[in-house]
Amino acid sequence: MYNVKSCKADEFINHEEILETLDYAQANKNNRALIEQLIDKAALCKGLTHREAALLLCCDQPDLINRIYHLAKEMKKKFYGNRIVMFAPLYLSNYCVNGCIYCPYHAKNHHISRKKLTQDEIRKEVVALQDMGHKRLALEMGEHPHINTMEYLLESIRTIYDIHHKNGAIRRVNVNIAATTVENYRKLKDAGIGTYILFQETYNKENYERLHPAGPKSNYAYHTEAMDRAMQGGIDDVGCGVLFGLTSYRYDLVGLLMHAEHLEAAFGVGPHTISVPRIRPADDINPQDFPNAVPDDMFCHIVAVIRLAVPYTGMIVSTRESKATREKVLEIGISQISGASSTSVGGYSEADGEEDTAQFDTNDKRTLDEVVSWLMKRGFVPSFCTACYRAGRTGDRFMALVKAGQIGNCCSPNALMTLKEYLMDYASESTRREGEKMIEEEMQKIPNPKVREIAMLHLKQMEECQRDFRF
Ligand code: SAM
Ligand code: SF4
Repeated sequence: MYNVKSCKADEFINHEEILETLDYAQANKNNRALIEQLIDKAALCKGLTHREAALLLCCDQPDLINRIYHLAKEMKKKFYGNRIVMFAPLYLSNYCVNGCIYCPYHAKNHHISRKKLTQDEIRKEVVALQDMGHKRLALEMGEHPHINTMEYLLESIRTIYDIHHKNGAIRRVNVNIAATTVENYRKLKDAGIGTYILFQETYNKENYERLHPAGPKSNYAYHTEAMDRAMQGGIDDVGCGVLFGLTSYRYDLVGLLMHAEHLEAAFGVGPHTISVPRIRPADDINPQDFPNAVPDDMFCHIVAVIRLAVPYTGMIVSTRESKATREKVLEIGISQISGASSTSVGGYSEADGEEDTAQFDTNDKRTLDEVVSWLMKRGFVPSFCTACYRAGRTGDRFMALVKAGQIGNCCSPNALMTLKEYLMDYASESTRREGEKMIEEEMQKIPNPKVREIAMLHLKQMEECQRDFRF
């Protein structure tokens, strides 16, 4: 029985409810009046239910799809402005006991090199990341109870926060690790992590069990209920996602939105972010073996519908996507991207040609400087801001800020000040020139004159070598 507030996976992600939702969407896909009504409802920026979103996803009438894209673009602007938050993944270890058949780290892959970084190697990686200009990381590792222990992860987080190389610092460490216990989530919270990220991979239990034939991750309920445990452990910024291509995208989008509705109903705050990864080629993985691949135009449609359904939730696209695809989805909903990523263990500091431990082949291989310059040319402000979580604006307090439309007076100056840091410490000459021009123009758009004045002062103080200002 479907119950949004239940703490049981098969009640808050209910298979029958998903099937009925898909039937409803299919039955109404030519009902223009209803679809138009839903687009009008979405324009009120209060979100959509999973049923309503499923219908918008099913819509195949070009003029209505255009309206959906247009509205997604407007809503993104309204709540997130033109800022794009930057981050990079950092792979700590690729030892793994699980059997995920889409990932080359699965335990039966005996030919991929296995590696776990020492604290010294982590230092080298972080120095390399700081030298690029990164301030925000997502830690990644396989699941291995004896090798990738919680103590190791906690020590690594401490190491990372302690490294201050030149003007660099990692100010927000997000963590993407396997589902764990409330007690461990509490430890992660105490270690000062930002978001806890866990992709559901697929919400379809039968497929999930087939795709995860071995290891702790094969327990669908334990995996699906992980965000509840994370919230019980005090982590109120959680990041959801599905790996598109494993099950039909329609099924998984409905599941994803039901998950968001559940977190909102049970804990008063939905996911902080939603990621939209698609399967990539990797060591012993061929995406063509997965028949549910999502075509590019449908991928954009998915992003736009998520934007309408959960207007206040950040949306992340990684370097799994090409420059061209990233260009499209940035316009219609994405608020956070990774740049210059390596998916190898030790990939930032090791010389090329070392044993390859990559999780997947990245699509966008540009440097961070190239990504920053490209964003600015397209009118986006690259932001290295980490202020909210450091000021305790997490969970519903962050959402309240977004809902109150206060980003103009808070996020915008923070984005510009952190961009300034990037330009002064890491950018190429041409990127720096483009950036200075952008900062000058964007500062004029800060609504509150007092905030603008303080931000101007901080920009000057940065010229005198001071760093890390924030609202
Ligand atoms: N091991 C943890 C887990 O599985 O939750 C943590 C992170 S894992 C390194 C990060 C994510 O990479 C997985 O959740 C999965 O969705 C994604 N992934 C695995 N194989 C992939 C592939 N071939 N292409 C694209 N993404 C992949
Ligand atoms: Fe291990 Fe995660 Fe890869 Fe699965 S997706 S094999 S759990 S690293």
